[in-house]
Amino acid sequence: MEKVKAKKHLGQHFLKDESVAQNIADTLSLEGYEDVLEIGPGMGVLTKYLLEKPINTYVIEIDTESVEYLGVHYDKLKDKIISQDFLKYDINEVFKGKQLAIIGNFPYNISTQIVFKVLEYKNQIPEFSGMFQKEVAERICEKKGSKAYGILSVLAQAFYDTEYLFTVSEHVFDPPPKVKSGVMRMRRKEDYSLPCSEKLFFTVVKTAFQQRRKTLRNSLKTLNLSDILREDEVFNLRPEQLSVAQFIELTQKIEADGV
Ligand code: SAH
Repeated sequence: MEKVKAKKHLGQHFLKDESVAQNIADTLSLEGYEDVLEIGPGMGVLTKYLLEKPINTYVIEIDTESVEYLGVHYDKLKDKIISQDFLKYDINEVFKGKQLAIIGNFPYNISTQIVFKVLEYKNQIPEFSGMFQKEVAERICEKKGSKAYGILSVLAQAFYDTEYLFTVSEHVFDPPPKVKSGVMRMRRKEDYSLPCSEKLFFTVVKTAFQQRRKTLRNSLKTLNLSDILREDEVFNLRPEQLSVAQFIELTQKIEADGV
């Protein structure tokens, strides 16, 4: 069968460098799960290294041409190819509440949505690793005070330890993307339950960063906080000045304020 023709609207940039593929597969610790789901396998450059590991490899791919290609070339993937859109897919159709790792050289056009979906399913995903455009991989791992620190950093790091691993040049893809790529890994914290309302935490973080240049006193106005609470010093800060722990504390205070 012919190679798959790259389709721009599906974010298809096929990795050509085998050693990068191997290094991405090796980001998995293989601890705490028996299954791995690869998002967007394309022609299987990363998949083949996953298949060498002592783990059940599943793939989910939106492009039917790639699905056909994988079926022809990888016998070991038989019955493990999910021909669907990851963003619309209910993980439990196949995984039924089990723990699984998620990996990929991801489609960059939906990077943030992939991370948000992982957070939604965090109870089942102890490990998540792979390649994004460099800025997104960095954002996930940045700490307070940095320009890239934002919603993704705080939400991901509230539940996961995140690690930026290595940078990948645009020249090892066909066709080359316009941006550099970065490989990162997220490992779920042993205790990842928050000591505050998770829903409110998400709201506070998102609302604060929607106006990242303003102090919290201004950006969080829409949450109708009491004047007494708004006197608290933390409201003098801008969102990038708060650590994850401080965002959790802030959420606790807002919760106690009775919103
Ligand atoms: N992993 C391959 C391909 C990377 S390109 C490689 O490294 O060469 C990104 C892949 O994600 C493409 O195969 C594309 O078809 C697939 N993809 C894009 N959107 C998707 C979605 N919503 N769900 C599942 N796969 C998707």
